[in-house]
Amino acid sequence: MTYALQTTSLVKKFGGFVATNTVSLNVEAGARHALIGPNGAGKTTLINLLTGFLEPTSGEVILNGDKVTHLAQHQRVKRGLARTFQINRLFADLTVLESVVMAVNERLGLGARFWQSVGSHTAAVDEAVELLERLRLLDVAHETTRNLAYGKQRLIEIALALAAKPSVLLLDEPAAGVPTIESRELFETIAGLPREVTILLIEHDMDLVFRFADRISVLVGGAVLTEGTPEVIAHDPKVKEVYLGE
Ligand code: ADP
Repeated sequence: MTYALQTTSLVKKFGGFVATNTVSLNVEAGARHALIGPNGAGKTTLINLLTGFLEPTSGEVILNGDKVTHLAQHQRVKRGLARTFQINRLFADLTVLESVVMAVNERLGLGARFWQSVGSHTAAVDEAVELLERLRLLDVAHETTRNLAYGKQRLIEIALALAAKPSVLLLDEPAAGVPTIESRELFETIAGLPREVTILLIEHDMDLVFRFADRISVLVGGAVLTEGTPEVIAHDPKVKEVYLGE
């Protein structure tokens, strides 16, 4: 079995409070792995430990077989780990294409300035167009992001993350705040991404999680309650108890 992302006995304490309690997570290469659990379960903390935004109290983070526990966030991005955020971090005044070209330029070390890429670095534009096509955003390439529906804006954030050519993509509630029909479309598009990109996502909408994921880890009180296929998780009485008790 090849794992794209693993943690071994990961612990994060905030003062005396244990937010992540010996979490050992194994995300298989190519998986669509969902992290679920009630509010306060430690999902965001875990994602922040994976990206390097937080340092663990103990335990390791392993990316494509290498320990990255103490690497800075940008070093993990360079090694293939990208993320999206719950909050909207787009530049509202740029067009969709400009935003994605900027992200591609950043990966190529050209500096995040759009004008540099025009004409002289058309490869970045070609790559951005290909990404937009994959995410069904080509028809809005020349719109400014502020004019787009929220679901589309979330897709642009995914495009920006993918511009880093990650092997692992962390999605933090991609459908948060997106109306139901739009969120279905959003997930269909995410589901169509190539399997070279391993996906670990946090999502509250169980309907979406059970359609999309091939593996689910359930976090409760900072610890992994159980892990398995959607079928197994859906019928697990421990999991039902957690959700009925909310
Ligand atoms: P989830 O994303 O599953 O809702 P979080 O990871 O946000 O859970 O939070 C897990 C627990 O850790 C919560 O009880 C939260 O209050 C606590 N927590 C998170 N971040 C901090 C922090 N920076 N300082 C203190 N406590 C925190």
